[in-house]
Amino acid sequence: MGTDAVVLGAGTAGMVAALRLAAAGASVLVLAEGEGGLPLAPAQIDVLGYRPQLILDPLGELGGFLESRPDHPYRLIEAEEVGASLEWFLELSAPLGYTGSPHLNRLQPTALGALRPTCLVPETMAAGDLSGGGSVLVVGLRGFRDFHAPLLAENLSLAHPPSGAEVRARSVEVSLLGDPRDLRPQLLARRLEERPVLAELGREIRSRLEQEELVGMPAVLGLERSHEAWQRLQELVGRPVFEIPTPPPSQPGQRLQQHLFRALRRLGGEVRLGVRATGYRRAGDRLMAVRVVTAAREVEIPADHFVLATGGIGTGGITAGADGELREEVFGARVSRGGAPDQPLVEYMATQPLDRLGVEVDQEQRPLGAGGEPLFQNLWAAGAALAGAEPWREKSGEGISLATGYRAARLAGGARA
Ligand SMILES: Cc1cc2nc3c(=O)[nH]c(=O)nc-3n(C[C@H](O)[C@H](O)[C@H](O)COP(=O)(O)OP(=O)(O)OC[C@H]3O[C@@H](n4cnc5c(N)ncnc54)[C@H](O)[C@@H]3O)c2cc1C
Repeated sequence: MGTDAVVLGAGTAGMVAALRLAAAGASVLVLAEGEGGLPLAPAQIDVLGYRPQLILDPLGELGGFLESRPDHPYRLIEAEEVGASLEWFLELSAPLGYTGSPHLNRLQPTALGALRPTCLVPETMAAGDLSGGGSVLVVGLRGFRDFHAPLLAENLSLAHPPSGAEVRARSVEVSLLGDPRDLRPQLLARRLEERPVLAELGREIRSRLEQEELVGMPAVLGLERSHEAWQRLQELVGRPVFEIPTPPPSQPGQRLQQHLFRALRRLGGEVRLGVRATGYRRAGDRLMAVRVVTAAREVEIPADHFVLATGGIGTGGITAGADGELREEVFGARVSRGGAPDQPLVEYMATQPLDRLGVEVDQEQRPLGAGGEPLFQNLWAAGAALAGAEPWREKSGEGISLATGYRAARLAGGARA
């Protein structure tokens, strides 16, 4: 039996498109050279955080934001559909306890102790919303170098949520696992799934807690059994516990990635990693097959529908030649610099045009060719591959991927998706 849909890219956008198509009954194959942003990113779903001032209601303020950013990927989608994609994600990710509202940004601590707006978070981070202030004990783990509890606590104490409420924070350092010198997050996550290790951590934290304090700790509370580890630690300390994202690799990101991969397998879909798309075969205005290289062999993979979710310049979906020429790698789609055609690609201490570049699409998310016409009738683009966003400044990356992946599946699957 042939494949109904091939999705290029296994990041958020590709996985969302694949899941929606598979749920609508399509046979789906995800092909990706690497893993994309999912296992590196904090697994918080940012929809829109700044315009440039802080946004409190991302969905409510989307229209106003687009007035000054008519080239932004959100222009392609009705706010209602953005909301629907977030509601769908909350349902899909119920096993990870995702919580939040498209109409309310939470303010969660970063690894450096800033408060940053984000929309949906897993249950292990939920208690870390400090928009209403709070008192936090930040717990560092001796030997884990990616998390500086004293710095984090110091910065957090300087945070001023718009509510005017006060944030107080102090830090402690706990020794675990015989005090090794260089603990890796993967090892910590595995060991913190063990009840005796968790009990030791719980005892240590409890003995240092003061009244009313919440407990913030690095996001290493388990991988496969994070729910049990987080819940058990809360019972042990008797207070809400929340994870704070660490620099990559991200354990919450890996949990989310594994969850999405498993959900797709359950729907009969398949993810193949280590597969690089290099070209295509067309017939008239239709894309018939993608050419891919896997294990040093080049093969053709035919399908009826295709989604391009190969990301931006960071993941190799778009490359810049020595002459500065930008190229979308698989189809040669037209690449836009997102409203800053004459700006150098990288500038010191300035808006980075690199962020905004991506493929140009029509209103139906179909990548355009050199002449401005859709390249194919049956190819749709989604996620960081699209031109026009500044996800790092706006805090919009995962929201764009979710919404455009969701919509690409609807467009590819018609009414079924
Ligand atoms: C360290 C880090 C932190 C982040 N933090 C946040 C955050 O706090 N908030 C937020 O909203 N977003 C964040 N992001 C961004 C977010 O995780 C995603 O990168 C974003 O949603 C884009 O997803 P995507 O699916 O479009 O692309 P990506 O996740 O970049 O995935 C692209 C996929 O395409 C594949 N690919 C590329 N070229 C080819 C080819 N020729 N053939 C086959 N496959 C190919 C790649 O291997 C990969 O699987 C972060 C990203 C990173 C890396």
